[in-house]
Amino acid sequence: MQELECVDCPLCNLNNFKIHVIAKDYLFSKKEFTVVRCESCGLIFTNPRVKENLIAHYYFSDYIQHREITKLTNFQRAKNSLGYLFKNPYKKILKALRSTNAKTVLEVGAGEGSLLNYLKKNGLNVTGVERDRNCVRRIRAMDITCYSGDLNEVVSKIGFKKFDAVVFHHAFEHLYNPKKTLSNIYNLLNEKGIIYLSVPNINSIEARLFGKYWKGLDLPRHTIHYDINSIKNFLSEAKFKIINLESDIFPSSFIESIGFFLLKQRMPLNIYYLFYYPWKLLAPIHTKVIGSGVMSVVAKKC
Ligand SMILES: [Zn+2]
Repeated sequence: MQELECVDCPLCNLNNFKIHVIAKDYLFSKKEFTVVRCESCGLIFTNPRVKENLIAHYYFSDYIQHREITKLTNFQRAKNSLGYLFKNPYKKILKALRSTNAKTVLEVGAGEGSLLNYLKKNGLNVTGVERDRNCVRRIRAMDITCYSGDLNEVVSKIGFKKFDAVVFHHAFEHLYNPKKTLSNIYNLLNEKGIIYLSVPNINSIEARLFGKYWKGLDLPRHTIHYDINSIKNFLSEAKFKIINLESDIFPSSFIESIGFFLLKQRMPLNIYYLFYYPWKLLAPIHTKVIGSGVMSVVAKKC
Protein backbone atom coordinates (compact mmCIF):
# COMPACT_ATOMS: atom_id res chain seq x y z
CA MET A 1 0.00 0.00 0.00
CA GLN A 2 1.26 3.44 -0.95
CA GLU A 3 2.21 5.20 2.27
CA LEU A 4 2.68 8.72 0.96
CA GLU A 5 0.27 11.13 -0.72
CA CYS A 6 0.94 14.37 -2.62
CA VAL A 7 -1.31 17.24 -1.59
CA ASP A 8 -2.23 20.73 -2.79
CA CYS A 9 -1.36 23.68 -0.58
CA PRO A 10 -3.48 23.34 2.60
CA LEU A 11 -3.86 27.14 2.73
CA CYS A 12 -4.51 28.39 -0.85
CA ASN A 13 -5.27 25.02 -2.54
CA LEU A 14 -2.86 25.71 -5.44
CA ASN A 15 -0.07 23.31 -6.42
CA ASN A 16 2.96 25.32 -7.34
CA PHE A 17 5.82 24.39 -4.99
CA LYS A 18 9.56 24.57 -4.51
CA ILE A 19 11.56 22.27 -2.24
CA HIS A 20 12.32 24.04 1.03
CA VAL A 21 14.30 21.30 2.77
CA ILE A 22 14.73 17.52 2.75
CA ALA A 23 15.25 16.15 6.24
CA LYS A 24 15.26 12.95 8.23
CA ASP A 25 13.00 11.58 10.92
CA TYR A 26 15.88 11.55 13.41
CA LEU A 27 13.71 10.33 16.28
CA PHE A 28 12.39 7.04 14.95
CA SER A 29 12.14 5.84 11.35
CA LYS A 30 15.35 7.53 10.03
CA LYS A 31 13.49 7.98 6.70
CA GLU A 32 13.81 11.19 4.69
CA PHE A 33 10.87 13.48 3.92
CA THR A 34 10.46 16.56 1.74
CA VAL A 35 9.18 19.92 2.91
CA VAL A 36 7.97 22.35 0.22
CA ARG A 37 7.15 26.04 0.03
CA CYS A 38 4.01 27.15 -1.83
CA GLU A 39 5.03 29.66 -4.52
CA SER A 40 1.61 31.30 -4.33
CA CYS A 41 1.03 31.92 -0.60
CA GLY A 42 4.40 31.04 1.01
CA LEU A 43 3.06 28.21 3.22
CA ILE A 44 5.70 25.61 4.12
CA PHE A 45 4.41 22.05 4.49
CA THR A 46 5.43 18.40 4.30
CA ASN A 47 4.74 17.10 0.77
CA PRO A 48 4.35 14.27 0.00
CA ARG A 49 3.07 13.43 3.47
CA VAL A 50 2.29 10.15 5.20
CA LYS A 51 -1.41 9.32 4.77
CA GLU A 52 -3.44 10.21 7.81
CA ASN A 53 -4.57 6.62 8.47
CA LEU A 54 -0.92 5.47 8.56
CA ILE A 55 0.71 8.27 10.56
CA ALA A 56 0.13 6.43 13.86
CA HIS A 57 3.04 4.14 12.84
CA TYR A 58 5.33 7.13 13.28
CA TYR A 59 4.29 7.81 16.86
CA PHE A 60 6.43 5.31 18.68
CA SER A 61 5.57 4.52 22.26
CA ASP A 62 8.16 6.88 23.70
CA TYR A 63 7.11 9.91 21.64
CA ILE A 64 7.60 12.67 24.18
CA GLN A 65 3.97 13.84 24.37
CA HIS A 66 2.78 10.26 24.80
CA ARG A 67 5.26 9.09 27.37
CA GLU A 68 3.80 7.92 30.62
CA ILE A 69 5.38 9.88 33.44
CA THR A 70 5.83 6.79 35.62
CA LYS A 71 7.77 5.05 32.86
CA LEU A 72 10.41 7.77 32.60
CA THR A 73 13.85 6.74 33.70
CA ASN A 74 15.25 8.32 36.85
CA PHE A 75 17.60 10.37 34.73
CA GLN A 76 14.76 11.70 32.57
CA ARG A 77 12.70 12.46 35.67
CA ALA A 78 15.59 14.36 37.28
CA LYS A 79 16.15 16.24 34.05
CA ASN A 80 12.49 17.20 33.84
CA SER A 81 12.20 18.39 37.41
CA LEU A 82 15.39 20.40 37.17
CA GLY A 83 14.04 21.84 33.95
CA TYR A 84 10.87 22.91 35.70
CA LEU A 85 12.93 24.71 38.34
CA PHE A 86 14.11 26.99 35.59
CA LYS A 87 10.73 27.53 34.04
CA ASN A 88 7.41 25.72 34.07
CA PRO A 89 6.13 26.12 30.49
CA TYR A 90 2.52 25.57 31.61
CA LYS A 91 2.52 28.68 33.81
CA LYS A 92 2.44 30.89 30.75
CA ILE A 93 -0.63 29.08 29.38
CA LEU A 94 -2.42 29.31 32.73
CA LYS A 95 -1.64 33.03 32.88
CA ALA A 96 -3.00 33.59 29.35
CA LEU A 97 -6.19 31.65 30.19
CA ARG A 98 -6.71 33.56 33.43
CA SER A 99 -6.15 36.92 31.73
CA THR A 100 -9.14 36.17 29.48
CA ASN A 101 -11.24 34.81 32.36
CA ALA A 102 -11.40 31.35 30.79
CA LYS A 103 -13.02 28.78 33.10
CA THR A 104 -13.76 25.89 30.71
CA VAL A 105 -10.87 24.65 28.58
CA LEU A 106 -10.62 22.06 25.82
CA GLU A 107 -7.14 20.76 25.01
CA VAL A 108 -6.79 19.15 21.59
CA GLY A 109 -3.92 16.66 21.25
CA ALA A 110 -3.61 16.31 25.01
CA GLY A 111 -0.84 13.65 24.89
CA GLU A 112 -0.33 12.03 28.28
CA GLY A 113 -2.43 14.75 29.93
CA SER A 114 0.11 16.67 32.01
CA LEU A 115 -1.13 20.10 30.89
CA LEU A 116 -4.77 19.13 31.51
CA ASN A 117 -3.85 17.90 34.97
CA TYR A 118 -1.92 21.09 35.76
CA LEU A 119 -4.83 23.30 34.63
CA LYS A 120 -7.30 21.17 36.60
CA LYS A 121 -5.19 21.50 39.76
CA ASN A 122 -5.28 25.24 39.22
CA GLY A 123 -9.07 25.32 39.28
CA LEU A 124 -10.01 25.16 35.59
CA ASN A 125 -12.70 22.89 34.23
CA VAL A 126 -10.82 20.83 31.64
CA THR A 127 -11.68 18.43 28.81
CA GLY A 128 -9.30 16.66 26.42
CA VAL A 129 -9.28 15.30 22.89
CA GLU A 130 -6.57 12.76 22.04
CA ARG A 131 -6.02 10.21 19.26
CA ASP A 132 -3.77 7.79 21.16
CA ARG A 133 -5.98 5.34 23.05
CA ASN A 134 -3.42 4.62 25.78
CA CYS A 135 -3.13 8.34 26.47
CA VAL A 136 -6.94 8.67 26.57
CA ARG A 137 -7.05 5.92 29.20
CA ARG A 138 -4.45 7.67 31.33
CA ILE A 139 -6.26 11.01 31.10
CA ARG A 140 -9.58 9.43 32.08
CA ALA A 141 -7.82 7.80 35.05
CA MET A 142 -7.05 11.34 36.25
CA ASP A 143 -10.82 11.88 36.36
CA ILE A 144 -10.75 14.16 33.32
CA THR A 145 -13.23 13.85 30.43
CA CYS A 146 -11.34 12.93 27.28
CA TYR A 147 -12.71 12.21 23.80
CA SER A 148 -10.86 9.59 21.81
CA GLY A 149 -10.02 10.49 18.19
CA ASP A 150 -9.40 13.47 15.95
CA LEU A 151 -11.27 16.65 16.86
CA ASN A 152 -13.12 16.68 13.52
CA GLU A 153 -14.35 13.13 14.22
CA VAL A 154 -15.42 13.68 17.83
CA VAL A 155 -17.01 17.10 17.43
CA SER A 156 -20.49 15.57 17.16
CA LYS A 157 -19.94 13.70 20.46
CA ILE A 158 -19.08 16.99 22.18
CA GLY A 159 -22.53 18.19 21.04
CA PHE A 160 -23.69 21.59 22.23
CA LYS A 161 -21.05 21.95 24.93
CA LYS A 162 -19.15 25.25 24.63
CA PHE A 163 -15.73 26.25 25.95
CA ASP A 164 -14.06 29.52 26.95
CA ALA A 165 -10.74 28.40 25.47
CA VAL A 166 -9.29 25.76 23.19
CA VAL A 167 -5.59 24.95 23.63
CA PHE A 168 -3.21 23.25 21.21
CA HIS A 169 0.11 22.72 23.00
CA HIS A 170 2.49 21.47 20.29
CA ALA A 171 -0.39 19.78 18.48
CA PHE A 172 -1.65 22.20 15.82
CA GLU A 173 1.32 21.46 13.51
CA HIS A 174 0.25 17.79 13.45
CA LEU A 175 -3.19 18.50 11.92
CA TYR A 176 -4.14 17.23 8.47
CA ASN A 177 -6.97 19.69 7.89
CA PRO A 178 -6.38 22.79 10.03
CA LYS A 179 -9.05 24.80 8.17
CA LYS A 180 -11.77 22.32 9.08
CA THR A 181 -10.44 22.04 12.66
CA LEU A 182 -10.46 25.83 13.10
CA SER A 183 -14.01 26.02 11.78
CA ASN A 184 -15.11 23.36 14.30
CA ILE A 185 -13.28 25.19 17.08
CA TYR A 186 -15.01 28.44 16.18
CA ASN A 187 -18.35 26.71 16.81
CA LEU A 188 -17.13 25.07 20.04
CA LEU A 189 -16.10 28.39 21.57
CA ASN A 190 -18.25 30.81 23.53
CA GLU A 191 -18.77 34.23 22.04
CA LYS A 192 -15.66 35.69 23.71
CA GLY A 193 -13.71 32.43 23.47
CA ILE A 194 -10.02 32.25 22.68
CA ILE A 195 -7.71 29.80 20.98
CA TYR A 196 -4.17 29.27 22.35
CA LEU A 197 -1.58 27.69 20.05
CA SER A 198 2.07 26.88 20.61
CA VAL A 199 3.79 25.83 17.39
CA PRO A 200 7.34 25.70 16.02
CA ASN A 201 8.26 28.77 13.96
CA ILE A 202 10.03 27.79 10.73
CA ASN A 203 11.07 31.36 10.08
CA SER A 204 12.84 31.66 13.46
CA ILE A 205 16.59 32.25 13.66
CA GLU A 206 16.88 28.83 15.31
CA ALA A 207 15.13 27.06 12.39
CA ARG A 208 17.28 28.86 9.82
CA LEU A 209 20.47 28.15 11.78
CA PHE A 210 19.87 24.38 12.04
CA GLY A 211 18.17 23.82 8.65
CA LYS A 212 17.54 20.10 8.13
CA TYR A 213 18.69 19.32 11.69
CA TRP A 214 16.08 21.56 13.28
CA LYS A 215 14.03 19.71 15.89
CA GLY A 216 10.91 21.75 15.02
CA LEU A 217 10.58 19.94 11.66
CA ASP A 218 9.77 16.66 13.46
CA LEU A 219 9.08 14.83 10.18
CA PRO A 220 6.79 13.28 9.16
CA ARG A 221 4.63 14.04 12.21
CA HIS A 222 4.49 17.80 11.55
CA THR A 223 2.36 18.31 8.45
CA ILE A 224 2.54 22.11 8.28
CA HIS A 225 5.51 24.26 9.30
CA TYR A 226 4.09 27.61 10.40
CA ASP A 227 5.60 31.06 10.57
CA ILE A 228 4.00 34.30 11.74
CA ASN A 229 2.42 35.04 8.35
CA SER A 230 0.93 31.62 7.69
CA ILE A 231 -0.52 31.23 11.19
CA LYS A 232 -2.07 34.70 10.82
CA ASN A 233 -3.54 33.71 7.45
CA PHE A 234 -5.10 30.49 8.75
CA LEU A 235 -6.54 32.25 11.81
CA SER A 236 -7.94 35.27 9.98
CA GLU A 237 -9.57 33.05 7.35
CA ALA A 238 -11.28 31.19 10.21
CA LYS A 239 -12.45 34.55 11.68
CA PHE A 240 -9.99 34.73 14.55
CA LYS A 241 -8.02 37.85 15.46
CA ILE A 242 -4.57 37.51 17.05
CA ILE A 243 -4.35 39.32 20.39
CA ASN A 244 -0.88 38.13 21.37
CA LEU A 245 2.01 36.46 19.57
CA GLU A 246 5.44 35.88 21.12
CA SER A 247 8.39 33.51 21.30
CA ASP A 248 8.18 30.79 23.95
CA ILE A 249 11.08 29.92 26.20
CA PHE A 250 11.65 26.42 24.84
CA PRO A 251 15.31 25.45 25.17
CA SER A 252 14.86 21.76 24.32
CA SER A 253 14.21 22.63 20.65
CA PHE A 254 17.66 24.24 20.36
CA ILE A 255 19.41 21.56 22.41
CA GLU A 256 17.84 18.62 20.57
CA SER A 257 18.72 20.24 17.24
CA ILE A 258 22.34 20.21 18.41
CA GLY A 259 21.81 16.52 19.25
CA PHE A 260 20.59 15.73 15.71
CA PHE A 261 23.56 17.60 14.24
CA LEU A 262 26.04 15.69 16.45
CA LEU A 263 24.39 12.41 15.56
CA LYS A 264 24.87 13.10 11.87
CA GLN A 265 28.55 13.98 12.40
CA ARG A 266 28.95 10.68 14.29
CA MET A 267 30.07 12.64 17.33
CA PRO A 268 29.34 11.31 20.83
CA LEU A 269 25.85 12.34 21.87
CA ASN A 270 27.14 12.94 25.41
CA ILE A 271 28.42 16.32 24.22
CA TYR A 272 24.75 17.22 24.00
CA TYR A 273 24.43 17.07 27.78
CA LEU A 274 27.19 19.67 28.16
CA PHE A 275 24.81 22.12 26.49
CA TYR A 276 21.70 21.11 28.36
CA TYR A 277 21.74 23.07 31.61
CA PRO A 278 23.82 26.07 30.46
CA TRP A 279 21.40 26.52 27.58
CA LYS A 280 18.38 26.09 29.85
CA LEU A 281 19.75 28.80 32.12
CA LEU A 282 20.43 31.10 29.20
CA ALA A 283 17.11 30.39 27.48
CA PRO A 284 15.13 33.34 28.90
CA ILE A 285 17.89 35.72 27.76
CA HIS A 286 18.38 34.30 24.29
CA THR A 287 14.60 34.13 23.76
CA LYS A 288 14.40 37.86 24.56
CA VAL A 289 17.30 38.73 22.28
CA ILE A 290 16.85 36.50 19.21
CA GLY A 291 13.52 34.76 19.88
CA SER A 292 13.18 30.98 20.03
CA GLY A 293 12.08 28.19 17.69
CA VAL A 294 8.58 28.08 19.18
CA MET A 295 5.88 30.75 19.13
CA SER A 296 2.68 30.97 21.12
CA VAL A 297 -0.36 32.66 19.70
CA VAL A 298 -3.53 33.78 21.43
CA ALA A 299 -6.46 34.67 19.17
CA LYS A 300 -10.09 35.56 19.82
CA LYS A 301 -13.22 35.22 17.74
CA CYS A 302 -13.79 38.29 15.54
ZN1 LIG B 1 -0.42 28.15 -0.95
